[in-house]
Amino acid sequence: MDLLVVGSGLFGLTIAERAADAGRDVVIIDRRDHLGGNAYSEADPDTGIEVHRYGAHLFHTSNPTVWEYVNRFTAFTDYVHRVYTTHGGVVYPLPINLGTINQFFSSARTPDQARALVREQAGEFDPRTARSLEERGIGLIGRPLYEAFIRDYTAKQWQTDPRELPAEVISRLPVRYTYDNRYFNDTWEGLPVEGYTAWLERMADHPRIEVRLETDFFDETQPLNRRDTVGQVPIVYTGPVDRYFDYAEGELGWRTLDFEREVLPVGDFQGTSVMNYADADVPYTRIHEFRHFHPERADRYPSDRTVVMREYSRFAERDDEPYYPVGTPADRARLLAYRDLSAGEPGVHFGGRLGTYQYLDMHMAIGSALSMWRNDLAA
Ligand code: FAD
Ligand code: UDP
Repeated sequence: MDLLVVGSGLFGLTIAERAADAGRDVVIIDRRDHLGGNAYSEADPDTGIEVHRYGAHLFHTSNPTVWEYVNRFTAFTDYVHRVYTTHGGVVYPLPINLGTINQFFSSARTPDQARALVREQAGEFDPRTARSLEERGIGLIGRPLYEAFIRDYTAKQWQTDPRELPAEVISRLPVRYTYDNRYFNDTWEGLPVEGYTAWLERMADHPRIEVRLETDFFDETQPLNRRDTVGQVPIVYTGPVDRYFDYAEGELGWRTLDFEREVLPVGDFQGTSVMNYADADVPYTRIHEFRHFHPERADRYPSDRTVVMREYSRFAERDDEPYYPVGTPADRARLLAYRDLSAGEPGVHFGGRLGTYQYLDMHMAIGSALSMWRNDLAA
C-alpha cells in the first residue's frame, strides 16, 4: 500500500482515483457499509425510485477542470434545479427573484423598481461589509423579505443566532432582478444519468484500489487504524478533524439531519423536487420528492406511488453524522487550533468537508482533492 485514504466520499475517491492512475496502490477505508459518503444513493425497495439517502444532492459547477474530470465517470442529465418555498400558506419561487418580490408585495414592479424598493428596505446594512448571516441577508433583500423567507428557515436549519452565523452561508443563494429561478448560477449542472452510486463505484473501479467498508480508523481492534498507520504510510484523512485529535481543542459545532422517508399512494405529491417551508410552525425545513429529479425516467417509475423525505435539522452529538459545519466565532477559533495540530501530524493530509470543517459542495470537494493530489501528493 502506497497510500491510505480514510473516507470514501468524493474527496477520498478523487484522491484514490488519481493516485491509482499514477501507479500507486491505494486502500480506502470507510466506517459505513457503502462507499460514496454523503452523495450515496439507492433505489427505494418499494418503488425503484432513486433516493439520496443523506439528503438531495444536485451536482453543479463552473470549474472546467472539475466538469471534465467528473464526465470521465458519468454522463449528466439536463436536469435544472428549481426550489419553491411555502410561507403563510402560499408558494413562492426561490431563490429570491423578481417573481418572489412581485408576488410577496402583490405588485408588478420592473427590475429597477424592485431594486429601488429593496434598496430602501435594506439600508440598515451594506452586504459587502456584513459580518454575519443576518446582516448580509437584510443587506441583500431588505428586512420584510428576510423575515419572511430567511429568518425562520435559518432558525430551523441552524438553531444558532443568525448574528453568529458566517455571512457566506447566505451568499450561497443568488438574488435576481429577473424572473430566472434557477437555483444555481453555475455553467454546468445535472444529475448522474445512471445514479450517484454508479458514478461513485466507477471512480473506485481500478485494480490498484481496494475498498474496505465497515472499517473505522479509530477502532484499534481493526487493521489500518490510526495507531498502526500514522507515520508508517501517507494518509489522506476525510473524517471530522476534531475527532482525529480526540477533541483536544474542544468540539467543533456541527448540524446533523434527521430524514423521515415515506412512500405515498399518489403519483405526484408536490409537483416539484424540493419544497422549502419558511415558517416556524412547520418543524421540518423541506420536503424532497425524488421522482422529480429524473423526469426522463417517468416510464420506469410507478405512476401511483411516490417517495418523499422530510428533512429536520438539529445539533449533532458525538454519535450523530456531522453534516454542516456551524462556524460560529468560537468554532473558527477552535478550527485555527486544529489547523496547527494538523500541520504537525506526520504524513497525514486533512481534506474534505469534515477534515477541513468547510461547507464544501461536491464540485468544491473534487476540486480541492485534485489540487491536493497535484500540489502535495503526486510527487
Ligand atoms: P463525505 O461525503 O462526508 O465523506 C466522508 C466519508 O468519511 C464518509 O463516508 C464517512 O463515513 C467516512 N468517515 C468518517 N470518519 C471515518 C472514520 N473514523 N473511519 C472511516 N471512515 C470515516 N453538494 C453538492 O454539490 N450539491 C448538493 O446538493 C449537496 N447537498 C448536500 C446535502 C447534505 C445534507 C449534505 C450533508 C451535503 C450536501 N452536499 C452537496 C455536499 C456533499 O455531500 C459534499 O461535498 C461531499 O460529500 C464531500 O465529500 P467528502 O468526501 O468531503 O465527505
Ligand atoms: N435559506 C433560507 N431559506 C430558504 C433557503 C435557504 O433562509 O428557503 C438560507 C439558510 O440559512 C440556508 C442557506 O440559505 O442554510 C443556504 O441554503 P441552501 O439551500 O444552499 O442550503 P443546503 O442545500 O446546503 O442545505
